[in-house]
Amino acid sequence: MMTRVLLASRNAKKLKELRRILEVAGVVGIEIVGLDDVPPYEEAPETGATFEENAVAKARDGAAATGLACVADDSGIEVDALNGMPGVLSARWSGGHGEDGANNALLLAQLGDVPDERRGARFVSTCALVVPGGRETVVRGEWPGSINRAPVGDGGFGYDPLFVPDGATATAAQLTPAEKDAVSHRGRALKLLLPALAALAED
Ligand code: IMP
Repeated sequence: MMTRVLLASRNAKKLKELRRILEVAGVVGIEIVGLDDVPPYEEAPETGATFEENAVAKARDGAAATGLACVADDSGIEVDALNGMPGVLSARWSGGHGEDGANNALLLAQLGDVPDERRGARFVSTCALVVPGGRETVVRGEWPGSINRAPVGDGGFGYDPLFVPDGATATAAQLTPAEKDAVSHRGRALKLLLPALAALAED
C-alpha cells in the first residue's frame, strides 16, 4: 500500500529532489504528490518571523485542506554582517518577490565595505511534516559559506551566484544540480526528515 504525502510546492525540482532522496534512502511505500496533483486550496501568505513558523503553517494548511500528510519548506539566507538578515525576507529583500538580480545587487552593495573575514553567511532550509490531526516534525538544514564580491556562475537560482560554500572556491551557481543537492541546506533538511517519513510508510 502506498501512502500519499503532499509536498506543498509546485516546483518540479523540489518534488524530484524529495523523491530521489527517498529512493536513495530505500524508503518505499510513499508517493510524493505536489500542489498541482491535489484540488486547489487557499494558500496563506508567509508572514512568520522564523523559517520554522512559515514551514509549519504551510504544512498545517496542506494537511488540513487535503487530509494527506504534508511536507512544506521555507528557506533563505542569513548573513552575519546583517545580523542574520535577509532571513525570512530573502525572496523579497529588494522589494519585489523573487527578483534575484535586484536582491543580489542590494546584498552586494550592503556588504561593500565588509572585509573578507566578516562575509560569513548560511543558507537555511526548514522542513515541516504535519500528519492530519497528528504528529508535527520540524527540522532545519544549514549550508555555511560566505558572500562573494561579485556574482559568478549561471546555474542555480536566488543568491547562488554570490554564495561560496565553506571549503569551496566556486559559487553555488557553478555546481551541477546533483552536486548542490548532495550538500545543500535543502538536501540536508530533507534527509533529517527521512525517519519521520519512513514511519508514515509503516503505519
Ligand atoms: P522559498 O523558501 O522557496 O520561499 O525561498 C526563499 C528565498 O530564499 C528564495 O527566493 C531565494 O532568494 C533564497 N534561497 C532559498 N534557497 C536558495 C538556494 O538554494 N539558492 C539560492 N537562493 C536560495
